[in-house]
Amino acid sequence: MSEPLHYRSTRGGQHAARIEEVIAAGLAPDGGLYVPEALPYLDLAAFDPHGSLADTAATLLAPFFRGTALAAELPTICREALDFEVPLRPLASHEGASVLELFHGPSAAFKDVGARFLAACFRRLRRAGDTPLTILVATSGDTGAAVAAAFHRQPGMRVVILYPDGRVSPRQAHQLGCFGDNVQALRVAGSFDDCQRMVKAALNDGAVQALTPLSSANSISLGRLLPQMSYYAHAALGWWRRHRAPLNFIVPTGNLGNALACVWVREMGLPVGEIHLACNANAALSDYFDGDPYRPRPAVPTLANAMDVGAPSNFERLRWTFPRDYELRVQLHAVSVDDDTIGATIVRHARQHGEVFCPHTATAVHLLDDMGATHASWAVVATAHPAKFDSVVEPLIGRRVEVPPALAAMLQRPASAEPLPASDAALKAWLRRQVEQPQAVAG
Ligand SMILES: *Cc1c(COP(=O)(O)O)cnc(C)c1O
Repeated sequence: MSEPLHYRSTRGGQHAARIEEVIAAGLAPDGGLYVPEALPYLDLAAFDPHGSLADTAATLLAPFFRGTALAAELPTICREALDFEVPLRPLASHEGASVLELFHGPSAAFKDVGARFLAACFRRLRRAGDTPLTILVATSGDTGAAVAAAFHRQPGMRVVILYPDGRVSPRQAHQLGCFGDNVQALRVAGSFDDCQRMVKAALNDGAVQALTPLSSANSISLGRLLPQMSYYAHAALGWWRRHRAPLNFIVPTGNLGNALACVWVREMGLPVGEIHLACNANAALSDYFDGDPYRPRPAVPTLANAMDVGAPSNFERLRWTFPRDYELRVQLHAVSVDDDTIGATIVRHARQHGEVFCPHTATAVHLLDDMGATHASWAVVATAHPAKFDSVVEPLIGRRVEVPPALAAMLQRPASAEPLPASDAALKAWLRRQVEQPQAVAG
């Protein structure tokens, strides 16, 4: 049982890594994404029926960490990362359906789970005297704030956030720029896909890495993906115990990190039923699941901006999980939802049921609305608090959305971000300047 699980690259490189290396590196040496050699299969009896979310996480993730330096710490890491509520509560609009609220963490979006888990692992992997490590984050809005909140003031760590200028909500931009200390925000004159490409290019550049050690905290990092499995496992196990039925999920999807976690939980033998992906107008996934060849494309801006992804990175991991198209296409169902429908869904649910959803969650709610008569055992995944997207939501519903306390505290602080052109060379030059003129870091 104590033989460690090995991890390999989706691109088939021969390098076999252990979890410590996988978490520290983010990306595999050949530029692929790390995946476990095989997904473990778990017996439902292994889970404590009265356990907390953190207890479920520790049981679920144990096989991924067994036989390594982090194994003994895993229960504590899970408690540190998952120290907020993730309630599954009944939906007012649909009898038998629920909403899984993932937004009760510090940055008010589900990305807190992965970011806090990653930070808790790094705290244990780094030694005093190690060269400071820079975490590079490309964000379409919510990742950056979650990673910044998780690593803020952590010794030996620095966070550099890249976000597409003008394509995140004003409150998201404020959140990204408000940390200071060891966190810097760069507003990039381009799209999220540009930011993601620039981060990958810097991570894969040996010369830059030699100058200043870099890691990533994007959803390409397995250290974020694994803990995201916890809330699906916990919700599905609770449902199974109460109803003896698997729980079906509708997941708002962009880069496919959140939905892939749900798919892997099902592969591991947990009682997850159908999984539907709710996408915005960026239709690479819905076109593929409708039978077209997979065709990544430039992202288009939408109301659900954290899902403005034209080339979802985790598709590579989905392909690894189900290598053949005909196998993969039966696993999932994907629907593209346009901005008008997102807006109409927010308005209708606020008026008729008094429930306010963020634009991302609204894509999933629309799929449920569209489903016909039976909603029993379906759960809509709520990925962010609507107050984060007040500039979209408030004009639609004609009233203020109450701001949760953690978000309100961030909005009180001053914010700033540096402009950067959307080129790989510009980011590398910026990183070199930070090393050559470390005084530029202060302030
Ligand atoms: C990141 C994000 C998504 C998309 O999640 P992926 O893992 O990239 O598919 C959806 N909604 C919100 C609010 C997000 O922040």
